[in-house]
Amino acid sequence: MKNRDRRVRTPEEALRKKTRPESIVSTYGYDPQRSEGALVPPIFLSSTFVFSTAEEGERAFKIAYHLTEDSIPVHSPLIYTRLNNPNLEILEERLTLFEPGTEQCAVFSSGMSAIATTILSLVQTGGSVLYSAPVYGGTDYLFNHILPGLGIRTEPFHAGIDPQGIRSALHRILRSTRGACLVFLETPANPTCTLTDIAETRRAIDEVQHGRKQPIYLAVDNTFLGPMWQHPAKLGADLVIYSATKFIGGHSDVVAGAVLGSKKLIADHVKVTRTILGTVPSPFDGYLLLRSLDTLKMRMTSELKNAKHVAEWLAKEPHVESVCYPGLLPEGHPQRTILEKQCVEPGSMVTFYIRGGKKQAFKFLNALKLVKLAVSLGSTKTLAEHPATMTHSDIDPKERLALGIDDRMIRLSIGTEHYKDIIADLDRAFREL
Ligand SMILES: *Cc1c(COP(=O)(O)O)cnc(C)c1O
Repeated sequence: MKNRDRRVRTPEEALRKKTRPESIVSTYGYDPQRSEGALVPPIFLSSTFVFSTAEEGERAFKIAYHLTEDSIPVHSPLIYTRLNNPNLEILEERLTLFEPGTEQCAVFSSGMSAIATTILSLVQTGGSVLYSAPVYGGTDYLFNHILPGLGIRTEPFHAGIDPQGIRSALHRILRSTRGACLVFLETPANPTCTLTDIAETRRAIDEVQHGRKQPIYLAVDNTFLGPMWQHPAKLGADLVIYSATKFIGGHSDVVAGAVLGSKKLIADHVKVTRTILGTVPSPFDGYLLLRSLDTLKMRMTSELKNAKHVAEWLAKEPHVESVCYPGLLPEGHPQRTILEKQCVEPGSMVTFYIRGGKKQAFKFLNALKLVKLAVSLGSTKTLAEHPATMTHSDIDPKERLALGIDDRMIRLSIGTEHYKDIIADLDRAFREL
């Protein structure tokens, strides 16, 4: 196992070019002959890996710590699980199959550690982060309470802003930025499903970047649509970030994260910082995620179909004031134009406003039986939650209301059950109001 030639790369690379990700994902990046013929990669729980000679150990460290001028092999030798591990490397290779326009992947112990490690690897004191709002509650806390304490300036702009607005926000923040700036988009936004135009953001960055030395990076948190329904790197994102806890894991039994981008950004920046912060997942979680990837397309396709049915049904329900689901956007709406340009499908997150207030919302949530009252998303199980008092309760109340996250809002993550049973459960809960 020491030698990374365990993966027969050349024929695989040829196959990769001609084959759809779902057809190759369960075998890619792993040679059974190197593991007693096991079809499924064993779980390599070892924290450390034996060198056959001291010279080999010296070479491994030179490669890992970038201390050599020699050409770096595709796979650096195994040393210690905080640096690299077979399960995590196979997972990283398989995740790149779903992300056209990226070269490498780094996996993490959570979505939050993926976001935090990525930002700390690229933006130092004096630098800045410009972000679309609303963002995930944990990300919002990082941007508002932790990064400013490290001397990193952060500023939000409203998700769905026009390109001119992004340009102005960039000019404004760069006036007081010394060093790198990172533009962070979450699109569709959680929980409002507002879309921000990734390609237009790239164009704005390129225009503003012109003639400046300081780097401006574009990172997209693609957790909400997952790897099937939106490909941010193809639209100009430098980095694609995931909470792998959601669609990638998909069964509500693992917390993990992933970041994809160019070899330079991932190998020279993100992974270097990950090694020092120690934000890697365990080999066992790596194994769980490998298993999940086999069914990624199947699960997401089933969840998408169900979500379309549920969103259409909700739109006609008298207790529902309005539904936020990109698939229901009318022709000609500016958000619909972005959807058609940048998303393969509208996904399986459906948010709606119930008529009445918090009392009605809680009564509805408490009456659900098949649908479980839980945060998180992208699971095979349909989940419901109340953003204002749960996932987004940490956001400044005034700001939260300005973003449309009020007491009437309920967020659903649609699972793989039969859609008629999901609708029957929702219907029963409405009839109990
Ligand atoms: C869940 C989530 C995160 C955080 O991921 P964890 O795996 O819980 O750390 C970040 N961004 C979005 C959009 C999320 O939904």
